[in-house]
Amino acid sequence: MSQRTARDLVAARSGWICEVCGSATATNFHHRKNASQGGLWLPSNGLHLCGSGTTGCHGRITQNPADAYRLGWSVPSWQDPRAVTVFVFSHGMVLLDDAGRYLHTDQEVPCRAS
Ligand SMILES: [Zn+2]
Repeated sequence: MSQRTARDLVAARSGWICEVCGSATATNFHHRKNASQGGLWLPSNGLHLCGSGTTGCHGRITQNPADAYRLGWSVPSWQDPRAVTVFVFSHGMVLLDDAGRYLHTDQEVPCRAS
């Protein structure tokens, strides 16, 4: 998948609202697994966040790695982001797929559009 396609799918998923705080415009594609650790440009590996590397939710994730791993905002190199639940403001703990959907982990079916 191209970087552009991944960005477009994640932006469609978020509606340009930060997926972590739900209260600010999303401006950054955050890689849950860093590109340097094999993370890909896929919707399952991306979060659409407010802020930058040092500000907003992007900064919060960068500066609080323990919280980021616990809440699925960051994924260690040995795990597949598609299999790691993540907290998003609008849906709680969900899985992300590569079609740009949130999946409830108890059902593994798409959440209803909100
Ligand atoms: Zn935010």
